[in-house]
Amino acid sequence: MRILIVEDDADISANLYDYLAARGHSVDAAPNGLVALHLATSQSFDAIVLDLGLPGIDGLTLAQRLRRDARLSVPILMLTARDTLDDKLAGFDAGADDYLVKPFALKEVEARLLALVKRAQGRVVDACLRLGELEYDPACGELRWRKIPLLLPPKAMQLLVTMLRQPGHLFSRNELEAAVWGEAQETSDALRTQLSQLRRALTLDDGRCPLVTVHGRGYKLVDPDD
Ligand code: CA
Repeated sequence: MRILIVEDDADISANLYDYLAARGHSVDAAPNGLVALHLATSQSFDAIVLDLGLPGIDGLTLAQRLRRDARLSVPILMLTARDTLDDKLAGFDAGADDYLVKPFALKEVEARLLALVKRAQGRVVDACLRLGELEYDPACGELRWRKIPLLLPPKAMQLLVTMLRQPGHLFSRNELEAAVWGEAQETSDALRTQLSQLRRALTLDDGRCPLVTVHGRGYKLVDPDD
């Protein structure tokens, strides 16, 4: 993992740095919020260990600026002193993902970081696919069209999810057949059948449909509300 340590206490920072580097991680350290802000926005990290009490920009403000201003979603593990329990809760509001109370075991820091990074990667993998009001949630396999769950035969579903991964992209017949059946079909009847099922399921009362045929070239998904 690439980890940024933000800690003004030189001993704690060095301990964290040495331990995490010895465990094979690539580590950077910042002694204050300003340096941290610069590093975090100019380089990419898998996780940030952030001390709450920092000179200049404190940990809460920094977390807020990373989330709200710099729009970074990098996981943040907040370090806090035992007597600042309320700050811990404020830390979550500011965008911290987890916290550890000082003094902490170095092993625990690494374990928490690994868990945060794993969770963050899971979030990316499980992100909903969306085009206007057409949504697919890979986590539960649910497809929703205008907020209503849509039940489709498996092949039609596969077809729609394939297209939903690249909204607006013009898919050729071969491309769609390869994505759903693994190879181009002898005849295009199977694809035509699935596409007409899809079109029926998606067409609105006023006739608009997100599935568009571009004659002679292929098919694409568009947001009919655009
Ligand atoms: Ca401190």
